[in-house]
Amino acid sequence: MEKEIHTLASTEKNNTSISRKTFLSRTGKFVAVGAIGSLVLTNADTNDAFAQTTNPKKALSPPAKIPAQPQEPIVLEAWKSDVDQKESQVPTPFPPDQRIGYAIVGLGHLSLQEILPALNTCKKSKLAALVSGSPEKMKKVAAQYGIKPESCYSYETYDQIKNNKEVDVIYIVLPNGLHKEYTIRGAKTGKHILCEKPMANTSEECREMIDACNKAGVKLMIAYRIQYQPHNRKLRELIQKKEFGPAKFIEASNCQSSANPEHWRHKKALAGGGALPDIGLYCLNTIRFVLGEEPTEVFAYQYSTPNNPLFKEVEEMISWQMRFPSGVVANCATNYNVHESRRYRVLCEKGWLNIEKAFAYKGQKLNSAKASGKLELNEEIGLAETNQFAVEIDHFSDCILKNTKPFTPGEEGLQDHILMEAIYQSAKENKPVKIQAASSITANIHGPEPDLDS
Ligand code: NAD
Repeated sequence: MEKEIHTLASTEKNNTSISRKTFLSRTGKFVAVGAIGSLVLTNADTNDAFAQTTNPKKALSPPAKIPAQPQEPIVLEAWKSDVDQKESQVPTPFPPDQRIGYAIVGLGHLSLQEILPALNTCKKSKLAALVSGSPEKMKKVAAQYGIKPESCYSYETYDQIKNNKEVDVIYIVLPNGLHKEYTIRGAKTGKHILCEKPMANTSEECREMIDACNKAGVKLMIAYRIQYQPHNRKLRELIQKKEFGPAKFIEASNCQSSANPEHWRHKKALAGGGALPDIGLYCLNTIRFVLGEEPTEVFAYQYSTPNNPLFKEVEEMISWQMRFPSGVVANCATNYNVHESRRYRVLCEKGWLNIEKAFAYKGQKLNSAKASGKLELNEEIGLAETNQFAVEIDHFSDCILKNTKPFTPGEEGLQDHILMEAIYQSAKENKPVKIQAASSITANIHGPEPDLDS
């Protein structure tokens, strides 16, 4: 199937009189079968297939990108013997003009320390534009990353990205309370949207964002990097295969310290809440991902140190319990006022799996324990680290190139907000809160499993 797409791409390259639209309508047949074959859309064209994954009423093309030529891997001469670990493959990046172009909105910590450097290591994605409220900072960043002045936008000129053909995706890396506005404005430019977690401040805002992207016929993905991270993916595989027997109980915590009460993370309007939506969300989202089920009930306790200016508007800590249909119970905690700790353990009938630094940018350690006669067998499962941001960004580019639904679409963010609202409600009322069965909008949350090796 891949071959057919590439063959058509080469035809397109050699025949400049064929328009992008024609190209898409031709390739769409193949893309649809390959990408969402389970829906048996053999006669669908790209527009129909796209409409199936987004808005059934409106059939718009996504911003076009000619699928890249297959990259022949470069094979280097072998020089290590078999007693050593196999070397990783030589990277196979797409030529720059065939990569998906990203406009990064907001040049704060995450953008400058993680996302921009990660884009340089992507295989299918590249930096194409910047959006910032600080012209001086943007000038420096643009010089560092080779972005032309005409691809630098302010928040006022943001909507003009519509006319920038280099940009396929708008990546929103702003305070949470601004995600909705920039997603909706971004969708109106016709560009696909990648939005940082938490998706917004409320579930209502999430619904508006999903609607806006559906209406515009663009894809929406929420940047849940842990769902693309090797150690967390391996743990999920072992749990779902019941390698340690059925899962029974989970302990999870994501905690850090905070110092500046003036930071937007301590302002309710910009953050939506405190530790829960910022870092507690990782426990919630990762447990749902690992178990592949949705909680039916939550019970929570919330606390903030009285008179601490950090916690005037948002909570310091929340601890909560989630019950799942399989009988698994998860105990979770998040705190903004302790030394950093990011970990979880899944206790199963015949052993346990544990990840230290589970939600960190790097340094994950996956350990297991199993009974072995009278002994306990402890093992570290060693896995190569990847750049979590690069892998996640390349997944979204892959979805655009193949016209598939992202693995973590807007509905994934919405579901987390529905659950966080139930957690706050439980803490407020001091009693368990039942979760309604998945609504039609969250019923089939995920897109196809990501192909992280291509
Ligand atoms: P940050 O404060 O470092 O950066 C935010 C940027 O937004 C700054 O450049 C700031 O100037 C700009 N901004 C625009 N309007 C603003 C306003 N009204 N108030 C404050 N800032 C404004 O924050 P960050 O740590 O980069 O976080 C940005 C987003 O990324 C948040 O949604 C956060 O939850 C998310 N995040 C995700 C991860 C992850 O691992 N996926 C990690 C950190 C942050």
